[in-house]
Formats: sequence, structure tokens, C-alpha cells
Amino acid sequence: MIYVIGDGIAGLTAAISLKLHGYDTVVITKDVYGGSSYVSKGGIAAALSSDDSPELHAEDTVRVGDGLCDVNAVNYFVKEASYAIDTLVKWGFRFDEDLRLEGGHSRRRIHHKTDETGRELTSFLLKKAGDLGISIVKDRVLSLIVRDGKLRSFITESRGLVGDADALVLATGGYAYLWQYSSNPPTNMGDGIAMAFRAGALVSDLEFVQFHPTVTMINGETMLLSETLRGEGAILIDNNGVRFTFNYHKDGELAPRDVLARAVYTEIMKGRKVYMVFSNIKDFERKFPGVNKFLRRHGLSINSKIPVFPGAHFTIGGIRTNVKGETNIVDLYAIGEVSDTGFHGANRLASNSLLEALVMGINLPNYVNEPWEGPSTSDGKLINLKVPNGSSSLSIDEIRRINWELIGIVRHGEGLQRAMRMYAYHDMYSGTEESNAILLSYLTALSALIREESRGVHYRNDYPNRDSRWENKRIYLSLAPHSS
Ligand SMILES: Cc1cc2nc3c(=O)[nH]c(=O)nc-3n(C[C@H](O)[C@H](O)[C@H](O)COP(=O)(O)OP(=O)(O)OC[C@H]3O[C@@H](n4cnc5c(N)ncnc54)[C@H](O)[C@@H]3O)c2cc1C
Repeated sequence: MIYVIGDGIAGLTAAISLKLHGYDTVVITKDVYGGSSYVSKGGIAAALSSDDSPELHAEDTVRVGDGLCDVNAVNYFVKEASYAIDTLVKWGFRFDEDLRLEGGHSRRRIHHKTDETGRELTSFLLKKAGDLGISIVKDRVLSLIVRDGKLRSFITESRGLVGDADALVLATGGYAYLWQYSSNPPTNMGDGIAMAFRAGALVSDLEFVQFHPTVTMINGETMLLSETLRGEGAILIDNNGVRFTFNYHKDGELAPRDVLARAVYTEIMKGRKVYMVFSNIKDFERKFPGVNKFLRRHGLSINSKIPVFPGAHFTIGGIRTNVKGETNIVDLYAIGEVSDTGFHGANRLASNSLLEALVMGINLPNYVNEPWEGPSTSDGKLINLKVPNGSSSLSIDEIRRINWELIGIVRHGEGLQRAMRMYAYHDMYSGTEESNAILLSYLTALSALIREESRGVHYRNDYPNRDSRWENKRIYLSLAPHSS
């Protein structure tokens, strides 16, 4: 039996593809409609039109990735994109016909279904999985049991020890919910990365947390106001009605995500409020039905000013894998946002993450019977860590506040050390959501402290520039034996 953990786009496509290739599979998930996939918006990048090519897509990805992309991984994903999109279409999913343009892409290549691609696709995949007789079980995986470098079994909240796994596929998503302001649902606290790290998996690139510049929350409902809105003409103003974005970048609202996120953050730190205005977008209701429904639910309209703030959005780092999803633990795969293949480098190009999740899920059966290779670590700095441990805990809300303040959009060495001191000697081992959150926050602060430069989405005001010594060099962390 192959157990797939998580029912986002990575987990569901893996389970469906495995089943269609004759493997027995079960999906276990914390929350059936949880995960970033369900709320994802813009779409999936794939270079399929006649004026585009995988080579151009690769160029854009590497440029945005800011000197840290694994070029082999980039070439793999951009080339496999066409097969992944074709497979979805063969399974019966229908994309809208037009391709959209997003920041950082030199061509229109975003495949979408209105502005609610994730909801449409996840609902479609859930139904497809049901039609194929794949069980989707609501349960939470707590820990992995590994002996002699091989996954043996795992433990869940309701089932206890599960001992019949031929392989385990972690598709548990990222951990961007762990910042006070976030676009992510609360399922995404990094359970998978924490349990894999404790079981001996290598993790990497944890300092690279992407903040989205324009998230809103109205009456407690969070909504991402995507790049496409800005691409279609939405602007940002402060509470005095001043359009400030050109003070930060020549492209104004279409500046790269990290620059715009820092601009909005800086304005808010100066005590101003920031609003998005989209009254000048033509054909708004047809183009953005999801945003339109959101506005109407809250008694707002296209003419309203919508308050926005930057929020943690996507975690580039994760369990180190190769493009097949193989970790350094035999029979333990990690796919989608929980993994770190090196595809995104130091900054993720918009709509490349659903692509990565999709390709890893769909292609997984091709590798299941191949000899295990695992990831390479030749491009980095490998640190074997002793992680301090204690018995007291912190609430998720406290952790989110600490991370926002000390490991947020603008970082500083002293703040990072303070965060590490605040987390040290708390429980990082028991497998509760809090212990996972503390462990990941500690490791993220450590990675951010070690990287004494600013690159991609990692910005330190005590090291505000890129440093060529860090070019193409990533930070790998692993747990030293006997550190509990
Ligand atoms: C608002 C928003 C908009 C986005 N828009 C886009 C976009 O347009 N294009 C793009 O490419 N990317 C987008 N992203 C990013 C993208 O959605 C994610 O990277 C992608 O969906 C990750 O898919 P996944 O399957 O790896 O994980 P997820 O979809 O996050 O799923 C994780 C799953 O794991 C389960 N889980 C977690 N822990 C456990 C546990 N311990 N036990 C059992 N189950 C567990 C959860 O319940 C969930 O089902 C967006 C993200 C957000 C938040």
C-alpha cells in the first residue's frame, strides 16, 4: 500500500496517477478542503503556445530565482509541464481558453479556470479520486518511523501505528500559516517538514519565505488579491489617496512581488494604511468572479477601497528531494510545497508552484519501482544540528506573532537570534502542531541567520546586498543523532 498524506493538488494527482498505474493507495488528510491548493487563484504556468517555449519559461524562472535555482530541476519541470497539462485534460478537466500573464513571465502562459483555479481543480480531482475508489481518510499523521535509513511505518492520531506502508508520500504543503499575516489556511503549519526532519530527513532553503504584497481580510475572511488584478489595472494607494508604489520601483504595482511586499510593509510601518482600488478594471465581474463574490459577501463593490497588507504566502524551502520526490530516506517521498527540489531558487516565479505539485504528483508512478537515488547536496553548506528541546510550549498565535516580528519581511541578525532564544528549550519533538511550528520557526530563524546576505525573498537590513559568496549555495539542515 502506498499512503499519500495530504489532499492538495500534489497529493490528489499522485494518488490518482498511482491508482491508474495499478498501485493500491489511500489518502490521509488533516482536512479535506484544507491546504493552499483549494484557495489558490491565478493558475498553472506551462509554455504551450506557439510564441513560447520551455526554454523561455526556464529563463524566466532562473532570472526570478536570483542565483539559486537548480537548473536541472528547472529544465525538468518546464519540459514536463506540457505532459502534466495534457494529463489533466485527458482526465476531463477543462481550462479556460485564454492564457493569462503574470509578473515575471515574459509570455502569456498561465493556465487557469476563472480566478478560482485551485478550487475548481481540487474539486475536480476529489471527484475523480472518488470515482476511482480511492479512500480519502480524515486523520492527522504525527510521526514517521525510520530504521537503517528506510521508512518502516508511521503513526497517526486516530489509527495509531500503520505498519503496512510500501512507501509514504508526504504532500502536506508548506508552513506559511506560521506568520501572523498570511494567505494560507491553518492546515499549513509544516507538520510534514517537522516530522521528516525529526526522522532524519534533510531540509533546505528554509530562509526563503515568500510574502505576497496584497492580502486582505474582511470580517475575518482572508482573501488573496492576486497579481492578475494588478496586471489588469488595479492600483495601490495610501490613506491620503497617494499612489506610492512608483517611489519604490519603476514598475509601480507590477514591481516584483518581494519589492512590492516590502513597499507595502514599509508604508504600514510608517503608520499609513494601504488600499487596493480596482474600479478601472474593465469587465471585472467576468474576469474576477471569485473576488467579485467575496466583495458582495461583505457588502462591498468594485468601487470600494479594499485594505491590503502583505502576508506570508509560500515557503520555498522544505524537505530536500530530487525531482522524483525522493528524500534521503528510502521509501519516503515528498512532493509539492512540502518538498524543496531547487526549482524556485531564492524567489518563486508566480504559478510555478502548482506546476511543480502537479508534475511531481502525476509523474510519481514512473519512479516507484526504480532504484532509490535521493537528493544531492553537492551545492551547499550541510549543517548537522543539535536541536535544543524542552517541555514548555507556546500557542500558535504567539508563534505567529514572533515570526511576523522577528523572521518576517525585513530581518536583522539580532532579531533572528532573539527568535531562536525564544524558541530554544520549548517542545520541538512531541509531534503536536505547536511543537512542529516551534521546530520549523527555530530552523527558519537559524537558516536566515546563517545566510548573511539579501537574496530573492530573504531580506536582511544588516546585510542588504547580495553576496557572490552565496551564489548557488544553499543551506541544508539535518538532525544530529541523539539530540533529543
Ligand atoms: C491564496 C493562495 C493563492 C495561490 N495561488 C497560486 C497560483 O495561482 N498558482 C500557483 O502556482 N500557486 C499558488 N499558490 C501556491 C499553491 O497553491 C501551493 O504551493 C500548492 O497548492 C501546494 O499544493 P500541495 O498539494 O503541495 O499542498 P496543499 O494544497 O497546501 O495541501 C496540503 C495538504 O496536507 C494536509 N496536511 C498537512 N499536514 C498534515 C498532517 N499532519 N496529516 C495529514 N494531512 C496533513 C492538509 O490538510 C492539506 O490537505 C497559492 C497559495 C495561496 C495560499
